[in-house]
Amino acid sequence: MCKHILNAQVAIRAPCCKQWFDCAECHAESQDHRLKKTVEMHFLCKKCKKAFRKDMSNYEESDEYCPHCDNHYVIEAKTPQAVLGVEGDDPRIDARMLKDERVKQDPARSLFAQDTTDRIG
Ligand SMILES: [Zn+2]
Ligand SMILES: [Zn+2]
Ligand SMILES: [Zn+2]
Repeated sequence: MCKHILNAQVAIRAPCCKQWFDCAECHAESQDHRLKKTVEMHFLCKKCKKAFRKDMSNYEESDEYCPHCDNHYVIEAKTPQAVLGVEGDDPRIDARMLKDERVKQDPARSLFAQDTTDRIG
């Protein structure tokens, strides 16, 4: 189970080892190779348990929803720290407010490129 994104809505299939992961960090921790970049991502919706594919080179806002059940799967990562730090409030709202002050993030990048950023070595 993913400990990075507690509220993960989808599993991602790594194109390199053909295994399903909740996030790129899970892949980085359990595998000794880099997550291969791919244009066409394979997802598995945790809500309806159906698989679908997305072309990441042409990713739009409507692509953040499961094509089968409309579940919004691109969400702010709810980390254990955030859950502990914000009691009662919805941490997603805080995260969104913080995010808006910075450069607008590509949701696809924040989900799938985590093992290539913020990592030394
Ligand atoms: Zn892999
Ligand atoms: Zn994870
Ligand atoms: Zn779904």
